[in-house]
Amino acid sequence: MIGRLADAVTRGVGDVASSVTDVFDPTVRLGVTGLSRAGKTVFITSLVANLMDRGRMAGFSATSRIDTAFLQPQPDDTIPRFDYERHLAALTSRTPHWPDGTRAVSELRLSLKVRPAGLLAGLRTARVVHLDIVDYPGEWLLDLGLMEKTYDQWSERALRRLTDWGADTYLDEMNAADGEARLEEPVAQSLAASYTTALRQARQAGAYDLTPGRFLLPGDLEGSPALTFAPLPPGAAPRGSLRREMERRFEAYKSKVVQPFFRDHFARLDRQVVLLDVLGAIRSGPRAVEEMRAAIADILSAFKPGALNWLMTLLGARRVDRVLFAATKADHLHHTQHARLTAILEAMVSDARRKAAFAGAQTEALSIAALRATVEEMREHQGETLPVVRGRLLDTGKDAALYPGELPPDPSHVLTPAMQGAEAWLDGDYDIMEFAPAPLTLRPGEGPPFIRLDRAAEFLLADRL
Ligand code: GDP
Repeated sequence: MIGRLADAVTRGVGDVASSVTDVFDPTVRLGVTGLSRAGKTVFITSLVANLMDRGRMAGFSATSRIDTAFLQPQPDDTIPRFDYERHLAALTSRTPHWPDGTRAVSELRLSLKVRPAGLLAGLRTARVVHLDIVDYPGEWLLDLGLMEKTYDQWSERALRRLTDWGADTYLDEMNAADGEARLEEPVAQSLAASYTTALRQARQAGAYDLTPGRFLLPGDLEGSPALTFAPLPPGAAPRGSLRREMERRFEAYKSKVVQPFFRDHFARLDRQVVLLDVLGAIRSGPRAVEEMRAAIADILSAFKPGALNWLMTLLGARRVDRVLFAATKADHLHHTQHARLTAILEAMVSDARRKAAFAGAQTEALSIAALRATVEEMREHQGETLPVVRGRLLDTGKDAALYPGELPPDPSHVLTPAMQGAEAWLDGDYDIMEFAPAPLTLRPGEGPPFIRLDRAAEFLLADRL
């Protein structure tokens, strides 16, 4: 702080005033995570746009107290800025398209000028609250579990999962390699490359709990030697051998990649949103649903009292006191089915919620669409009236009505077959098409259309404003 003040002094008195308030202004650090394609980029873009133009935010109680909201330079100079303007332009152009998704960590500061509420409202002047939004891949959060594993423990689990997901190419290559032989760099590189391919293929097939997360989304470590290791079966590891070196690189990954990420980003959050493409998992089948459930429980082990607490203490974690779980893309369903989607989400995250609650965090589960791409209709079909959603299809550009099938009223009808390892849903498939964002005509003061984004903001932010 002194550094920043001193810095401001050299820049002139006007800057000192703004820096002094800046240093003392309350800040809320909101983490937005979820696995790739869960909807993080669209969520942040639409949330910020709707906090700046609050015409649709009726369910956000702080709306009436916010005078203005404006973007400011973020406090952390070394983190890339979330490319809000480019993402918003993609969504709101004349021919709208989805923005590129999250590939690495990024940050955006939105400052809100808020009038005080309650008895003192007339006496106190408006104050500024900074909202620092940190976007990061959920894949990286799964790496937290590596901190308490040895190389052999991790290898054992990783190999079990590769066997489950039929990654024969890697397993064959690994079996042909000799862990005790002297390390040859091309062998290590080739194993790491095949292991990465195996992870990608498992992910495509519906696996979520895959580590190391940076192999799937390397961010700034693309091509780096920190990512040239792979699991091997247990055995002797003489000095200079392939196995010894793999183990060393695994440990280096933990201390040089995983730990700094948690210290610099995760451990500094106040609030967290976990986005889940629950509908996408249901479409992929029971196995994907069970994977998603297990991955979320694992991700939230960061909140588990006991086992990992040493880590959080070590990192000086600020406690996340609210966690929102949101099922995204709810605009694929007619609103009559939203309660069922939320019930499935609640059942899916119940383990994770218990952990979070035990650690003192409040949790909430909501079905949302950060950007509504469809309209609702009732359609006659073979003598029945069906609640459908209509939109423009992403692949053909054609207008289409979608009836994705009915979600069961009892979430256990989805969760139980998933946990029991069923291969397919008994009562038919859930068909979900991908829609393109719809062209928008926004009235002044209105952000892009959404479903329950105001409720999400209410839970995450209202009490701090
Ligand atoms: P990220 O990888 O978590 O950053 O995910 P994105 O925000 O890029 O979203 C991935 C894809 O999901 C987008 O390209 C869209 O196709 C879709 N999507 C995200 N949010 C919504 C939404 O609110 N409604 C609909 N219909 N599709 C969405």
